[in-house]
Amino acid sequence: MYSQWFYHKPSRCLFDAGEGVATTLRKKVFAIRHIFLSHGHEDHIAGIANLVNVRNLAPGDREKPLTIYFPRHDKWINELLSYIEKKQSGLLRYPLYAQPLDANDEIVLTDTRRPTRVRAFPMKHIAAELSLGFEIEEERRVIDRFTGQPVCRYHPIFLYTGDGYGVQHSSFGRVDLAVHEATFLRRDAAKAGAWETARHSTIDGAIGWAAREDAKTLILCHISDRYTLNEVLSEAAVVKKELDFRGEIYVAYRDQLVYTPDQLRSGLAPK
Ligand SMILES: [Zn+2]
Repeated sequence: MYSQWFYHKPSRCLFDAGEGVATTLRKKVFAIRHIFLSHGHEDHIAGIANLVNVRNLAPGDREKPLTIYFPRHDKWINELLSYIEKKQSGLLRYPLYAQPLDANDEIVLTDTRRPTRVRAFPMKHIAAELSLGFEIEEERRVIDRFTGQPVCRYHPIFLYTGDGYGVQHSSFGRVDLAVHEATFLRRDAAKAGAWETARHSTIDGAIGWAAREDAKTLILCHISDRYTLNEVLSEAAVVKKELDFRGEIYVAYRDQLVYTPDQLRSGLAPK
């Protein structure tokens, strides 16, 4: 919860841009074409100004454009973007765009192998403010069950919640990989529902959503630092069993990505 970002390499999309993103990705920052911001809290946006700057200075493919998408009325993101605009005025060697989004907007990506779009959906996080989650949907040709004819369908390949809860049901079927925040354990569910600070998900809330959606793989992230890795892994394993979730679960804990222990014990852990 100190810094959050996920880079989806096939679509060249970065989801949130917490502190340290450019330091970690280094030259890969040139590959990023789209940055989707969920909301303006520090742990989700503190790395943007540096990323925009490093992409301008370091040797690499400088001409490729970069677009930052964000919730339209987010005060802090708008403040940060105006800082970047003033700071970089006349200096940028690549086109930088800022595109405000409303809930349910769809962005068509033009630089992917297959036709692909990113859909923004609303999350419950900050009272009276729009916070967004995102789903990447890829167009695929499939054979229609009834007619036997090839048709184009959207397939959800990646979902990112940002902060909060209340992910909408996807009508496109089982998502390949979902990244869902899970700040709290069950015992602190009351803290997760408090509007006074900001609302968050619990581990069982996140796995419950994944079980209903039958997600193939789930990454739990934004885990509160008050819990040990063991506490988190054992609650995830218990809830997985209780809710009969058949997908795989990973836990992003500090700088590690850890497979859930029930699968570790059975020797099925992937490399
Ligand atoms: Zn937040």
